[in-house]
Amino acid sequence: MHQRPVLAANWKMNLGPSAATAFVRAFLPLHAARDERTVIFFPPAISFAAVHAATRARPDIRLGVQNVHTDEKGAFTGETSAGMAADAGASYVLVGHSERRHVFGETEAESARKCARVVEHGLIPVLCVGETIEQRERGETESVVLHQLRTGLSALTHEAVREAIIAYEPVWAIGTGRTATPDDAAAVHRVIRAALVRLVGESGATIPILYGGSVTPANAAALLAADQVDGVLVGGASLDAANWAAICAAGIEPGN
Ligand code: PEP
Repeated sequence: MHQRPVLAANWKMNLGPSAATAFVRAFLPLHAARDERTVIFFPPAISFAAVHAATRARPDIRLGVQNVHTDEKGAFTGETSAGMAADAGASYVLVGHSERRHVFGETEAESARKCARVVEHGLIPVLCVGETIEQRERGETESVVLHQLRTGLSALTHEAVREAIIAYEPVWAIGTGRTATPDDAAAVHRVIRAALVRLVGESGATIPILYGGSVTPANAAALLAADQVDGVLVGGASLDAANWAAICAAGIEPGN
């Protein structure tokens, strides 16, 4: 069970092992462990071991990888498998991030196979869904997001779906400085929530749905307070230890 909110940092292709270690050393004193929050780092694969070592004394910090291959092993130069990620100490895997879909051409069918692999190895998929600006302007947000959601989860048992995390990341808000308003986010999160409940029954209400797209210390509290927003997935603003610590503390009253 994930404590909410879930605060997830996606470093993308930033922070090599030395910079990642320095980041963690700067961040940990700024962030007290809190039972009611889940903090997850998604470092680049090459920095995973460094972050794992630097967070060893802080079991409250969870780790994940940004992508895995659909296959178990073999001649796939440059790739990482779910089994390797589990062996390295990961608990989570991002699947279907918009950069994987739109820059690297990952298909919905591949996202589904990746989710299945991730679960096979006892890891938790964080399935990312979201529409492009063109799709939003054509009024297709709901259909695109629901299609990505249903296909991405299609190879999982209901039990595995109940353990998963969903991230709604409108493509037009990722790395652009253009954030969905809390109302925009809540509207899509309600659609996702209803689909999850239809899929797995009442327990679909407890599956965390994160918002991602230009989250900053200035807007995090308002987004986290929006209906059906159970956490945030953060790229750019998670690369600065003080900013990330501020987002991890968003919404906490001073003195608490
Ligand atoms: C992301 O990469 O998942 C993301 C939301 O990036 P940013 O916060 O930079 O928009």
